[in-house]
Amino acid sequence: MEKKQFKAESKRLLEMMINSIYSQREVFLRELISNASDAIDKIYYKALTDDSLSFEKDSYFIKITPNKENRTLTILDTGIGMTKEDLENNLGIIAKSGSLAFKKENESKDGHDIIGQFGVGFYAAFMVADVVTVISKALGSDEAYKWESEGAEGYTIEPHEKDTVGTEIILKIKENEEEDNYDEFLEEYKLKSIIKKYSDFIRYPIKMDVKGQRAKEGSDNELEEYEEEQIINSMVPIWRKNKNELTDEDYVAFYNEKHYGFDKPIKHIHINVDGTVRYNAILYIPENMPYDYYSKEYEKGLELYSNGVLIMNKCSELLPDYFSFVKGMVDSEDLSLNISREILQQDRQLKFISKNISKKIKNELKSLMKNDRENYEKFYKSFGRQLKYGVYSDFGSNKEVLQDLLMFYSSKEKKLVSLDEYVSRMAEDQKYIYYASGESIERIEKLPQTELVSEKGYEILFFTEDIDEFAIKMLMSYNEKEFKSVSSGDLGIESEEDQKQTESEQNENKELFEFMKNILSDKVKDVRLSKRLRSHPVCLTTEGEVTIEMEKILSAMPD
Ligand code: ADP
Ligand code: MG
Repeated sequence: MEKKQFKAESKRLLEMMINSIYSQREVFLRELISNASDAIDKIYYKALTDDSLSFEKDSYFIKITPNKENRTLTILDTGIGMTKEDLENNLGIIAKSGSLAFKKENESKDGHDIIGQFGVGFYAAFMVADVVTVISKALGSDEAYKWESEGAEGYTIEPHEKDTVGTEIILKIKENEEEDNYDEFLEEYKLKSIIKKYSDFIRYPIKMDVKGQRAKEGSDNELEEYEEEQIINSMVPIWRKNKNELTDEDYVAFYNEKHYGFDKPIKHIHINVDGTVRYNAILYIPENMPYDYYSKEYEKGLELYSNGVLIMNKCSELLPDYFSFVKGMVDSEDLSLNISREILQQDRQLKFISKNISKKIKNELKSLMKNDRENYEKFYKSFGRQLKYGVYSDFGSNKEVLQDLLMFYSSKEKKLVSLDEYVSRMAEDQKYIYYASGESIERIEKLPQTELVSEKGYEILFFTEDIDEFAIKMLMSYNEKEFKSVSSGDLGIESEEDQKQTESEQNENKELFEFMKNILSDKVKDVRLSKRLRSHPVCLTTEGEVTIEMEKILSAMPD
């Protein structure tokens, strides 16, 4: 029998997995159960959408069987199964997105950190097993196959006997080694607790034969051993549960189980709506930016369920671009299972849900900003730019939604402040919200243009990102206060008298300025007398809407 090689990246990851001293080895079970549940979802979905198939709820389950004598742990499911090609394609290589992340993370971090960073799914089995055997029969197929691997060396596939559709994964559990205890993965109590901890809300029954003792019938003091099949999980999906039944840990566990992210979310939002459109949703604000977030590869979207059945992995219609960082899922009884992408875009229910969700996210972010500034700043560091893009690309009501979520560095506070905070602190005679653009806070602080405004005691917002000024131009004003660049010609600070005086001095020295202008010829449009300078002899200003920083960016853009 031919032994096949894993793809290079998979091999490296496998080696790490096998040698890892990863503390949370027990998550291997979560991964395998999650795959089993996905496989049942698939067959369930097929049955619901294909009249020739039927779905008997009772015949779909996951069964966990430890065997101490053989040192094996078996995870059986009655899901859709895998063909020979599936086995080859799905278990021989690591999902593309994962491998990308792997490469990136690998540059800075060592082995076991990485494993904690992203879901490795099926491969997690090698953390606890020397040999992994997968026996599977696909729906609609007459043959079954056995896939087997001892780790990085490669794998084999051969025909095998299996009567029923589904998959059986047999793990040959490693021998104990010094401090590493693998025996526990064969212990009933341990398995039960792992299932409870990570997979409680899996919708299908996770069964296990459980041994116990009970009083012998007809006897008061004699005990007898018995074994019975029990369902270990509660089977209620977390989103159907009541918020007050759930702890923060439950939400984090769901986030991890779903691989929404590899960080700990900053906040979760649990929505149960029972109105004209009924839906449940669990949403997360991640803390860290996904590695591909600001790239074309990144796909926004939420998981979409129709009455508990997953119908789409990334439903982009549910999230506006400016909230594309939000992760999570939506389940609605009012959506058709057979809904297609095209119909989805016009679906009224979906539109309603999407609008509703956006409102909730906005409110949660607002309250985070108000009540937990530290975490909001973390969030803002990762995703603030996306909010600004949202303002910039505004064609509708984004502005209203987003302006309250923006923050900029303040010359006075020496930290990020909101526009609302700025405006509430404005001096009585202050007309504008002042800002200064530059590469960094340090550089802006040295700008001559900031001197006059600062001297007046006015606060200045520092714009250090390309997008800042563009976004503000779209916003135009906040609370009826217009934005003003400190380098614009008219700062709205000089009194009329001052302006007149400047003008007449300008006229008196007309020849001098003409002379300077000629020397600088096409480099400047005009040379003028200024009253705004304090410690600098000269500064550049612009006329009209486009400031110097914007001009720099615009001229750097490809035509
Ligand atoms: P993911 O679940 O994120 O796709 P995994 O590494 O966990 O990645 O699994 C890889 C693929 O192998 C799955 O997408 C699925 O196609 C297939 N697979 C794994 N386990 C099973 C199973 N029990 N039944 C059917 N297919 C499975
Ligand atoms: Mg998986």
